[in-house]
Amino acid sequence: MKSQLIEKFCALYGRVPEIVAYAPGRIEFIGNHTDYNGGPVLGAALDRGVWVAIAGRADGRRQFSSDQRGAPVEVRAEDSAKRTGATSWVNYPLGVLAAMPGFGAKAPAGFDFLAMSNLPAGAGLSSSAAIELASALAFLEMAGERPPREIVVKIGKHAENNFVGVPCGILDQGVSGFGQKNCLVWIDCRGPVFETVPLPADAHFWIFNTHTKHALVDGLYAERHRECMAAAQALGVGLLVESNAAAVERDQARLTPEAFKRAKHIVDEIARVTESRSALARGDLAQVGRLLTASHRSSQFLFENSTAELDFLVDVLTAMEHVFGARLTGGGFGGAVMAMTSGAFGEAQAVVAAYRARFGAAPEVLHTQTGDGATLL
Ligand code: ADP
Ligand code: MG
Repeated sequence: MKSQLIEKFCALYGRVPEIVAYAPGRIEFIGNHTDYNGGPVLGAALDRGVWVAIAGRADGRRQFSSDQRGAPVEVRAEDSAKRTGATSWVNYPLGVLAAMPGFGAKAPAGFDFLAMSNLPAGAGLSSSAAIELASALAFLEMAGERPPREIVVKIGKHAENNFVGVPCGILDQGVSGFGQKNCLVWIDCRGPVFETVPLPADAHFWIFNTHTKHALVDGLYAERHRECMAAAQALGVGLLVESNAAAVERDQARLTPEAFKRAKHIVDEIARVTESRSALARGDLAQVGRLLTASHRSSQFLFENSTAELDFLVDVLTAMEHVFGARLTGGGFGGAVMAMTSGAFGEAQAVVAAYRARFGAAPEVLHTQTGDGATLL
């Protein structure tokens, strides 16, 4: 991909790039809605992502181009406005430039920029974090700065939260930044603290994106957030991470039936993330798979953020050979299911056929393994 990127950069701008950077997409491995409850989450960096090439310009002009978008977009260095419409993808690198001064780095003035990708955008695999982190690494290098990885992660998150305006948690950028091949990234969201956790090399991921999305997904997400905070308050803790299954059972009378289910999902899910880590340390993928599927069932029955489509995929997948486990990945209320399988799994087309027979449309399928995190190339 790097050589293709350089070739395309030359064709477009008539010279070679000075800096090339890459950042991967990610999946939420396990840890459903645990982040804002102060809990841990495990994510996997994918072997797909976004590449960014840049070269400085003395005339102060900024030109942005992407293989996934149309003509190059020119933005004057003094123009810091957020863009709308067809060129709004430029908000991701612009957001990074806007974030840099807050982290002690001077944003470069003029440059030519080209992004290339083998990661579907808008599929819940965090192409947004990938383009942010690849851009951040490239711009920081141009500015002569090589800050710790955690700062690069924070610049990406700042761009997405404050410039693009998406209130994502630390998972997306944290996993893209700290990913490592054959590893998962453990994030303790209270720090945040990032650690890598080895994953046996034959673990494969299959992502089935239903392209369905509940019409009220943002509102439902905010409602779950509120319910969790109210449950924490009723249990006398600041965040649900400070509670546990025994305490939630003991104090059930203080909670509405709804709040009890939400709180139980979160405390159990936090325990499952921790248990997954122990099972991974033993190399016990069968147990990790059981925890993945248990996470989904908890979403289905307790947190109620699953859908008929996602439940169907999990039912079909978990009945198949070579599948360790499957769960919805991401916020829920639609989106994608991910299955962890051994390398011998070859039934993706049967899953698609079953889904099509039931729902009349095919899910998008992506087969991936873990990959390395964001890096200069
Ligand atoms: P996700 O992060 O799950 O892929 P988002 O909606 O958060 O979905 O981010 C997708 C957006 O990120 C795209 O609509 C586009 O604006 C931007 N983006 C991602 N990859 C690229 C790319 N290679 N070129 C241009 N824009 C990109
Ligand atoms: Mg995103």
